[in-house]
Amino acid sequence: MINKIIAQVERLALRMEPQRGIRLLNALPPSAIEALQRARFRRTLRLAAERSPFYREQFRRRGIDIRRIEHPSQLGDFYTTGEDLCERLDDFKIGRADTVFETTGTTSPVPKRVYFSQAEIDEMGRASAVALSFLGLSPEDTVLSAFDCSFWVSPATVRSAFQYIGCFHSEAGKIDPLDFYERAAFYRPNIIFGEPSWIVRLSNIAAERGVWPLKFLFAGGENIAETARQLVEQTWRAPLYLSYGQTEAFGSMGIECVEKEGYHRNDLHFIFEVPDVDESGTGELVYTTLTRDVMPLIRYRSTDLTHLIDEPCACGLFAKRIARIRARTDEMVVCGMGNVGPWVFAEVLRDVNGHGADWQAVVSHDGRRDVVELRLELEDLGHWAEVQQAVLVNLRNRFADFWKNYEMKLYDFRVIPCASGSLRNGRKLKRVLDERQPMPSPCAVEVHAGS
Ligand SMILES: [Zn+2]
Repeated sequence: MINKIIAQVERLALRMEPQRGIRLLNALPPSAIEALQRARFRRTLRLAAERSPFYREQFRRRGIDIRRIEHPSQLGDFYTTGEDLCERLDDFKIGRADTVFETTGTTSPVPKRVYFSQAEIDEMGRASAVALSFLGLSPEDTVLSAFDCSFWVSPATVRSAFQYIGCFHSEAGKIDPLDFYERAAFYRPNIIFGEPSWIVRLSNIAAERGVWPLKFLFAGGENIAETARQLVEQTWRAPLYLSYGQTEAFGSMGIECVEKEGYHRNDLHFIFEVPDVDESGTGELVYTTLTRDVMPLIRYRSTDLTHLIDEPCACGLFAKRIARIRARTDEMVVCGMGNVGPWVFAEVLRDVNGHGADWQAVVSHDGRRDVVELRLELEDLGHWAEVQQAVLVNLRNRFADFWKNYEMKLYDFRVIPCASGSLRNGRKLKRVLDERQPMPSPCAVEVHAGS
């Protein structure tokens, strides 16, 4: 019953002028949203326990009686991880799917595969449409998107939202930003979607060759340094908004508003928790899906470190927020190169002769783009040129996506020789270091100061 009412309210809100639609959604009392979450969560839990051997086994082993559970936090130390998804895919896939997406370059060479039905996609698209229309996206707009289509979720995410908005839209794919710039001139899009590092590169080109009027730019898929965001915004004289998502969550966990102080979270489709926090209030974001029948995820570990913001936002939107992501719990780094972890560099170095046992990859930002430095311990500098050449050949042959991003100048890649024994100063060597500035939101500072 409550499901139907909220879906009706969402549909109605989308047909209204955005500010009125938001007012309508804001009029929903918090208790109605909590009741909806509870009903959707209990349904998800029942479905999982009935059909998934993984969940059934876990609940039995922990003595969990799901009839008594009303919120994910009552599940104690039960969590689901990306490794579970990779290892026991068939146990998670419990409904009929219409499509699948993959995450590239995760912690292992095996991609995570996440299946969806069209009904699930439509359902989540409606919520994204509400958020995008709040940013000003309307049926009169022309949108060009440069999201990568290779098994990636983002093109489907935006399409699911645009069907409700009814704007003109085309998928360019992640082509070379220069190529995009030249071909876009014909369509004159007033809104552009893409990955942050790709948008930065496009903006560098536009700064040299000229801009056309944009309403806004929209980026998803990775973090962006605030200095880089400012460069993009100054170039186009238009705001750049970010979204937060994972393939496992159909890319639609949260979206920025005009305030750009955290992502307004998608509470109608997820329950978000940060169960364990450190002294600064930061911890791993964990989420439970509420509207998924094909592959429901219960207490899924995002591996992203952040905190939840429950204080109201200056923009007036009812949805609460997730703060900017601080870091990841694993050694994965999301940057202009792509999603990279230790195994990526180990693979790039495989069969490369002439370097010592130790290496370290360091990601920094030079004000224009991310810089990936692969530091190698070398016995003998005499072979340096050959080593460098071999590394680049491996990168090109073994990682087509990373090479493509390199050719598009989305990041700079440098191989740096180091003296033997210089990298390891403790027992354990951190293989991948992210030295870009952490990006705390102003809200985060307020929360910490008050607590
Ligand atoms: Zn806001």
